[in-house]
Amino acid sequence: MKLITLGTAAGNSERNRANAANLIICGGKYYLIDAGEPVKALLFSRGLAYTDVQKVFISHCHEDHLGGLMGLLNCFFREHRKAPESDMTVYLPEMAAQYPIEEFMKVIHRDIPDGKLSFKPVESGTFFDDGNLKITAYPTDHLEGRGPSYSFLLEHEKGRLLITGDLRWGDFGDFPYAAIANEPAVCLCEAVHCPLEKVVDVVRDLPIKKLIFTHYKTSLLKQEYDTFLEKTKKLPYPVVLATDDEEFIIKE
Ligand SMILES: [Zn+2]
Ligand SMILES: [Zn+2]
Repeated sequence: MKLITLGTAAGNSERNRANAANLIICGGKYYLIDAGEPVKALLFSRGLAYTDVQKVFISHCHEDHLGGLMGLLNCFFREHRKAPESDMTVYLPEMAAQYPIEEFMKVIHRDIPDGKLSFKPVESGTFFDDGNLKITAYPTDHLEGRGPSYSFLLEHEKGRLLITGDLRWGDFGDFPYAAIANEPAVCLCEAVHCPLEKVVDVVRDLPIKKLIFTHYKTSLLKQEYDTFLEKTKKLPYPVVLATDDEEFIIKE
């Protein structure tokens, strides 16, 4: 399983830092976890056909995770006649998002062939398994009662990748321990909603094979990066701060 951290920026994106979007490639298929801006440009830049990415999973409905979806859907269906057998499924944490997305497609005059775009709910537990990739959702408390949010555990053959999504402000008290309690995984962990000193305490003793931090604020200062290196160097597994468009291979 290959992870490509297309976008690692939280909140504000910049010219060279995109919002949350992670591309998973395994078994010759493509899956997108979160669709922050400008995900359509990032996929295009990698030479992918839009119609290759037919499964999109949204961890929660904040704009920096969802805001690029409309552009992506527009491109997918603009190109659809070149791959008429393709169809798109978007897994939403809140089905209330479906109607405005569909209405936006009408506003921009993007016709969608019958039956080619479907929306399904993200649900706690294993909610997706196409025989190639299995995804299990763990509820988190990022929105503090205002709506659902999820972490995702992805499993392909012996590769296991835990994507935390956004977690609770201040303490990461909703970190999805259950996902790795019985079997370790590589962890793609957000790094913006909790002071780094605390994050290190949360993850230090967990069965993590490699910790990849993402979703840190834009314009990370040199001093803060030095602090990151200092705080994480004693963790008992490899730790990296992902950059946009970085590739990671997740095997056993
Ligand atoms: Zn976010
Ligand atoms: Zn968020």
